[in-house]
Amino acid sequence: MQYPKDGVRHTDTRGVAMRMPTKAEILALYRELVEEGVEPVNVLAERALRKLKTKSNSGIAVVSLLTKPFPCPGRCTYCPTEENMPKSYLSKEPAAARALMNDFDPYLQITNRLKALEMNGHPIDKIEMIVIGGTWSFYHPVYQEEFLIGCYRACNDYGTGDDSRTEKYMDRLAYLLLLQDRNERAKSRIIGLSIETRPDYITDFEIERLRALGVTKAEIGVQHLDDDVLKLTKRDMKIERVKTATEKLRNAGFKMVYHMMPNLPGSTKERDIAMFGELFSGEDFQPDMLKIYPCMVLEHSELYETWKKGDFTVWSDEELIEVMRGAKKFVPPYVRILRVYRDIPASYIKAGSTISNLRQVMDEDMKKNGWHCHCIRCREIREGEVNADDFTLSRIEYRTKTGTELFLSWENTKKRKLAAFTRLRLPDNNGNDAILPVLRGAALIRELHTYGRHTPIGGAGEQSQHVGFGRRLLAEVEHIAKDAGYTKLAVISGIGVREYYRKLGYRLEGTYMVKYFQ
Ligand code: SF4
Repeated sequence: MQYPKDGVRHTDTRGVAMRMPTKAEILALYRELVEEGVEPVNVLAERALRKLKTKSNSGIAVVSLLTKPFPCPGRCTYCPTEENMPKSYLSKEPAAARALMNDFDPYLQITNRLKALEMNGHPIDKIEMIVIGGTWSFYHPVYQEEFLIGCYRACNDYGTGDDSRTEKYMDRLAYLLLLQDRNERAKSRIIGLSIETRPDYITDFEIERLRALGVTKAEIGVQHLDDDVLKLTKRDMKIERVKTATEKLRNAGFKMVYHMMPNLPGSTKERDIAMFGELFSGEDFQPDMLKIYPCMVLEHSELYETWKKGDFTVWSDEELIEVMRGAKKFVPPYVRILRVYRDIPASYIKAGSTISNLRQVMDEDMKKNGWHCHCIRCREIREGEVNADDFTLSRIEYRTKTGTELFLSWENTKKRKLAAFTRLRLPDNNGNDAILPVLRGAALIRELHTYGRHTPIGGAGEQSQHVGFGRRLLAEVEHIAKDAGYTKLAVISGIGVREYYRKLGYRLEGTYMVKYFQ
């Protein structure tokens, strides 16, 4: 194949215009040549050819998929309703557009997403599945189960030539368990599954159900901590429900993301900044992760009408940056800020910031004004080399209403780099008040994460995932839990990570990987 070097438009012998090849095409050709033994493996070239590094440079390929169009019990004034879309989503948002193209079919959404990621050079053996779209807990249980059956089938079939969609089953939940079991050995393993829901839908029954479905992370819409703001925006919920949901989720080992929304009607800049301080100053909240979505006036929302009447104004970009600066300063080192802006096409935004690269803008602000964000996202190592001797074990302990949280991490404090961390939950009363019988007497590992270049399952590597940080953290928390008087340690493990724990003496009990202390 020949490509023009002089910028002049050329045609091949058939008269077809020639062009520069895309990165994906070069990568595909490179892989073919490596497979045929014509070219040696070149890790640097491969890394350079990978598009959109952030999709997998935390070691995991993230796949977001949408549930079908469906209403939500909420009436939140800022939330858009578009025909043929699940509540809150707009058809031109990237994940929504992909879902629409696949007719919201989970099997097709996943298969086509994996194809695209693979073509662009991303490893696809470890998948974090993020299910978005309205309120998960409000969908009919039959739909929830069938949706997840589609997801597991797609991951299990991918790259095998099989199509399990023709398989018949009598009992949906039993079949789901079978698919989960198969996924433990699949090429694309689901190592985490998250859903979005409302805090007032988190009951004991829902906790049990989320675990049966394999959910490991819950994203809950909190938005604001003041009841008067929640009332004005028709959230139909008091903040007390957030506190209850938070403890229930944490005591079942879930990782937890709060969605927060500065600039809501009824609030002020000062109040919003203080709200982030309140999140982390006491025992009531303490989320593990944050998605911060500054309020925007969107087409198809009630707030749009309020704004048109002049009853609501949004901040300028400078004001938004000022609030984000204030908010970020409160975020402790054990929290990861996943998002600071919702990626909504500007055509929908009637008022509000359109700085879609707000994270980079904040990075620039830090450099210019000499301040730092301490969150995990701002410190995790990416593609750099890892020398284990440069990292030391750090420990942070904090209380929530019904237990103690330990955040242990391998950090290079001089360079502000974090290579691995774990969250250990020590529930009060030695875990004997747990909702799920399997967790009685257990300390909980809610998260164990190592950063660095992604290495395929079973592959070798020299980055943090392979210098033993994960195992050393695990050994440390086992000691701590045993010394604290717990009879066992339970891990809320994604299906695809069960094998890792099995090799370390854990066994599957209920939906958790459990190790008993002698
Ligand atoms: S609960 Fe969530 S999805 Fe439902 S209306 Fe409110 S913001 Fe929208």
